[in-house]
Amino acid sequence: MGKQMSVEERLIRSEKDADELRRALDQSSIIVFTDANGVITYVNDKFCEISKYSREELIGKTHRLINSAHHHKEFFSNLWRTISAGKVWKGELKNKAKDGTFYWVFTTIVPFMDSSGKPIQYVAIRTDITELKQIEEQAQDQRVALLHAEKMASLGELAAGTAHELGNPLAAISGRMEFLEMQILSGKSTSEEILRSIGTVKELTERMTRIIRGMRALSRDGTHDPFQKVSVGLLVKDVLSFANEGLQKNNILVDVSEVDDRIEVNCQETQISQILVNLVGNARDAIVGFSEKWIKIQVLDQDSCIVIAVTDSGKGIPQEIAEKILLPFFTTKPAGKGSGLGLSISRTIIEKHNGQIYLDQASPNTRFVITLPK
Ligand code: ADP
Repeated sequence: MGKQMSVEERLIRSEKDADELRRALDQSSIIVFTDANGVITYVNDKFCEISKYSREELIGKTHRLINSAHHHKEFFSNLWRTISAGKVWKGELKNKAKDGTFYWVFTTIVPFMDSSGKPIQYVAIRTDITELKQIEEQAQDQRVALLHAEKMASLGELAAGTAHELGNPLAAISGRMEFLEMQILSGKSTSEEILRSIGTVKELTERMTRIIRGMRALSRDGTHDPFQKVSVGLLVKDVLSFANEGLQKNNILVDVSEVDDRIEVNCQETQISQILVNLVGNARDAIVGFSEKWIKIQVLDQDSCIVIAVTDSGKGIPQEIAEKILLPFFTTKPAGKGSGLGLSISRTIIEKHNGQIYLDQASPNTRFVITLPK
């Protein structure tokens, strides 16, 4: 057993400890001390290095000197609320160096309080994360560019189909109108027969409206659209009338017998349409070479939620692939055909709707399920 330390010895010891701790921190981190008003009282070399200001230029100033104008006012008022209440604040900050360049730091601010609980000084400990941030930003830019490219490609592919889809009912309307004209001019048709012709024209125009709505849904960015109550069944039918050409051409049967138009859900319509286009597109790609080709869509009202399910005639997805399909950039499709973003973006959208999207492993066929709260 060593002998007991005297009070003085202990004080010296704890000061030495504090010194060593500060030295260790000085080596590894960017350190700033400020007084209770945020006026800088101490900076280490690393802070001078990254901010490109000299110690003399920094001492006596506030952090306004290195403010990058990147963060909102609310961001800083939250920071101040936190630390002046004696709590530790942690976050990522973008700062501006003396030469006008920007840098990012992960920051921990620790308040030191007096005995009455009032802050007397703050210590900010920072790590340079500029490079990490750059990589993150590049990845995000790439994602956006890729998604845009994919959207444009699928629009291009579908535009031809859409022209065809619109051409058919247009020709039918034109034919019907001529027939109607004849019916009226001959004076022999009953008003019932005439009304039937009008009914057909009305149906055809509705179909065209749906196709155009589907086209619009796919091409526009609906991320900031308001949430609205819409019939999911009608949404499904809009998407199908748009995608139908590609399905028919490949002899894919579509079963919508379990789509209930009366079921409504509070959602961002365009976003849900985009998910449906993606699910139906994925199903089509998966089964196009099969002898048995069908897609079944269900819109069901279950006790606690609304279920939208898209099942195709494929026999499920192998476990090792199924684990990855929701990850961004995972695709098994040839280059130029898929970006691997469809399902990951669908998941983001559904989570924003407080719902879930998953592959139904219990189904004998490939079945994707979306649940949305009522
Ligand atoms: P992409 O369609 O661009 O590949 P997705 O995120 O939409 O991106 O899909 C990721 C992968 O999930 C696809 O490449 C495919 O391997 C798999 N997948 C999705 N839907 C199906 C399906 N219905 N049948 C089989 N595999 C599917």
